[in-house]
Amino acid sequence: MSSGVLCTLPGGWLDRRGGCQREVVLRPLRGGDEEWLYSLPPQTSQVSVLTMLLARCVKRIGPYRASRAMIRTLSMGDCDFLVLRLHGLTFGERVERVLVCPDAACGAKMDLDFELGQVPVEERPRRPRYTLRLEGSPAREVGFRLPGLGDVEAASRAEDPERALLARCVLDLDGKATPGGDAVDALPDAAREALDAAMEQASPRVEDTLEARCPECGREFPTTFDATASFLASLYSQRHEFDRAVHLLSFHYHWPLGEILGLTRERRRHYVRLLRDALDVGSGLSARERAEAS
Ligand SMILES: [Zn+2]
Repeated sequence: MSSGVLCTLPGGWLDRRGGCQREVVLRPLRGGDEEWLYSLPPQTSQVSVLTMLLARCVKRIGPYRASRAMIRTLSMGDCDFLVLRLHGLTFGERVERVLVCPDAACGAKMDLDFELGQVPVEERPRRPRYTLRLEGSPAREVGFRLPGLGDVEAASRAEDPERALLARCVLDLDGKATPGGDAVDALPDAAREALDAAMEQASPRVEDTLEARCPECGREFPTTFDATASFLASLYSQRHEFDRAVHLLSFHYHWPLGEILGLTRERRRHYVRLLRDALDVGSGLSARERAEAS
């Protein structure tokens, strides 16, 4: 069974002493994870799915065994990075997409192929506290922390998600601790915007815009790649194939379901290929007939 790969978070997880732990052990998805994903209620929010999925697949952060509570404190940038790696571990590093040229006179279809490892990641090691000085009279100083997945999840349920997120992350105003949202309400809109920008600037980031070039007309244009949406869409689109593979392996090998669901997607597909070949040989089909039948 695969024990996982080591990777370095672009931001990091803060331990109790405020130390930034960036080393993570991540394992690829196994059949049991796919089965779990397919059983989730359809209204489950994407950030909740991500938190639970990462809690299953992140084995270790620094010297600590990962827990769901730890995952909930990771920043969105670290989460995007982990999904990017999980995408590669599960489906391979190569991504193939079909785009349509945005030039109205051209509209040619084209392939955009890239390696997940080429997606730029901006590293910003995490700190327990950041400060923002707001100009004006009097000048004010806001102490804040970066939001984690759990903050985003909780804020998304609030009446005003943007305010709720700031309220959770502002730690102090002019040196005084500020529990709840009072400090945020005391800030003018421009200050809130500045705070929002300061948080973004301090956060690690996975680039979601790629440059494409039309081979027909030569036009260059940006296109977005959302690793999370792409990863989840790939998983959901494989549901039928997953069910067939599990059925085929249990039907022919008589392995217990728990063992089949313990296989990574790669191992499972490997056994299914071997089995299909053996079944085709048994049925007396030639290679050409097999190709025609598939
Ligand atoms: Zn074009």
